[in-house]
Amino acid sequence: MYSLSDLLSLQPKGDVAAKVLSVYLGETPGNGAAGYRAVLEQAMDGVAVSLPADERRLFARERAAVMDAPLDAKAWRKGLAVFSSQPEHLWWLTETHVPLPTSVRYETAPYLGPLISAREAHRRYCLAAGDTANARLFLVRLGEVEAREDVQDRVPRRHSQNEHAANIERQHGAKRQLHMKHVAEVIGAWHKEMPFDDLVIGGAVEAMAHFERELPPHLTAIIAGRSPMPMYGPEVQLLARAEASVAAKRAWREEQAVARVLTQSAKHKGGVSTEDATLLALKDGEAHELIAAAGHRVRGCQCTACGLLSATIVRVCARCGAAVELTEDVVERALAQAAARGTRIMLAHGAAGQRLTTEAGGLSAVLESPRR
Ligand SMILES: [Zn+2]
Repeated sequence: MYSLSDLLSLQPKGDVAAKVLSVYLGETPGNGAAGYRAVLEQAMDGVAVSLPADERRLFARERAAVMDAPLDAKAWRKGLAVFSSQPEHLWWLTETHVPLPTSVRYETAPYLGPLISAREAHRRYCLAAGDTANARLFLVRLGEVEAREDVQDRVPRRHSQNEHAANIERQHGAKRQLHMKHVAEVIGAWHKEMPFDDLVIGGAVEAMAHFERELPPHLTAIIAGRSPMPMYGPEVQLLARAEASVAAKRAWREEQAVARVLTQSAKHKGGVSTEDATLLALKDGEAHELIAAAGHRVRGCQCTACGLLSATIVRVCARCGAAVELTEDVVERALAQAAARGTRIMLAHGAAGQRLTTEAGGLSAVLESPRR
């Protein structure tokens, strides 16, 4: 069984590289399995007619394998991605969890851009919604709750009317603090085991500040939002509020990152923002973070030997002189290269993405800081 990291290591291997059929199934045509098959067959036909005659038979084999797979049962709820190449002994079928547009590609590299983008755009976050004695904790990734836990601690009620009021009040404070520590511990353990990028604090207003005080600094640093909410409301409502906080934080982060890389690039210090300079930095391992405008496509070519991408269409590779292959989308291949090398990826959406496209052609990179 393949995994995303296996696929990421697949790069075109010279002129005879076997092609990979990549299929995304994500739209909801509305008439069940038959609708899906029709949409998919149509997309497959579109690819088949564009192929040279000698490739059609190989394509037909991959197509048959995909159409025979059990696509329908899960497809309209979860979205599916399938990658198939019989010459490469490659077969990977995975849920995308978020709806991605249906598409079919048959190319020398698996079409991973949508999968990488979806993972980047729906990173894992934690929601802690609580009051002074109870908390509901959620760990969410790609719209799915990966873990949930209720933390309940016995905290004596405050504002007691009897003569021990002061004592009770003190006990309440101490127990409340223990509860907050307890919640922070659970979240800390989650973060260690399944690192998340954002933490949203929600629930009762009077509890939020107390809770924040118990958090270790590395968790305080990733607070994406503080959102008062009725903590016993339906889960979907809680998660919708949390998603809104995470999305707002993300938009802010993207705007900051784009502004920063454009300044760095203008000063020729720490960043590049032309397509070719970015692609070269990526290839040479000098890129610390690749920042691309979400959904932006750039035609170009890729070296069949060393893998160098270029937005300028050239006849032979500028680096090694080998033959190049044309591609409709160097951005998507750049994302795959970045993901394969472990280079950080940021996709800029909305206003940030537009600015990056207008001022930098949609691609930029923050460079590794020079060694001291
Ligand atoms: Zn080359």
